[in-house]
Amino acid sequence: MARVVITEFMDERAVAQIRARHDVQYDPQLVDDPARLITLAAEADALIVRNRTQVRGDLLQALKRCRVIGRLGVGLDNIDVTGCEAQGMQVIPATGANALSVAEYVITTTMMLLRGAYMASADVANGLWPRSALGNGRETAGRTLGLIGFGSIGQTTARLAMGLGMMVKTYDPLLAPGAPILNQTGADYLPLDELIATADVLSLHVPLTEATRGLFHADRIAAMKPGAILINTSRGHIVDLSALARSLRAGHLGGAAIDVFDAEPLKSDPILQGCPNLLLTPHISGVSADSNERVSFLIADKVLESLR
Ligand code: NAD
Repeated sequence: MARVVITEFMDERAVAQIRARHDVQYDPQLVDDPARLITLAAEADALIVRNRTQVRGDLLQALKRCRVIGRLGVGLDNIDVTGCEAQGMQVIPATGANALSVAEYVITTTMMLLRGAYMASADVANGLWPRSALGNGRETAGRTLGLIGFGSIGQTTARLAMGLGMMVKTYDPLLAPGAPILNQTGADYLPLDELIATADVLSLHVPLTEATRGLFHADRIAAMKPGAILINTSRGHIVDLSALARSLRAGHLGGAAIDVFDAEPLKSDPILQGCPNLLLTPHISGVSADSNERVSFLIADKVLESLR
């Protein structure tokens, strides 16, 4: 029987599936108790984390007998993958299992921000009837969605957007122009600068790497079409949020939805407070009841297989 340590929330039934075969230490708050985490890690044969547990440095050193790291989600920027592999550990992400949840977030925020009519409940309830102010919203069909990064989430988003009659264009350096997936999804390939300059809605679906860190700096935001919408569900450190807020306040960008931040949880930030046409969410685009179930069972199955 192996020892499995789970440091962040996981579907309880998936935890029970692992517990039926192994000794499980499951504490969704363990990530916030580094000393206890290190102690438990020293005895772990498998470690299961989400995005908050930093698997590097002291924690990595402590994982002396660990064989496998299960990542409840996608994006491995919280894990020193090279260091793990050097210690003989396999790192397993839940690729694809939360793609639909993120894609639906992108479509929802796209429609909300283009139309601009859904954030007036308080005014309507208070009898203000802001009909003329809200009557200028834009429809979604016929508008261009630019997807930067065309992996699992980018492709799922493209399929949903095509169903709404959007035109989908993408940039991904690992995608050859003419790649079969473009035909299958109906997306067109554009160079990055052209995509930025022409999209009505730009959505980012890239990992955080040295190439994507700072990708959306002030100049790139300024190069976006007037009235365009920027959506970032990928990672913090990719969009300059101060430049974004300045652009929204100046009326250049038409809206933005931001799910991920340089430091999480985000501390109270005056630049973002009261910023017009800005939707903020606490890193939940990939987390729904349905995706949590899919992600948790996928990782439970793969970790069990790896411990066999
Ligand atoms: P994926 O690996 O399937 O796709 C990522 C794509 O990005 C790949 O096709 C890759 O070629 C492309 N890419 C890499 N560098 C690029 C660059 N410089 N410019 C443009 N494209 C580039 O991953 P995915 O499942 O689509 O997820 C994408 C990212 O979304 C993850 O790495 C993670 O950081 C983030 N994510 C966030 C949430 C959330 O809840 N907010 C949930 C899931 C994933």
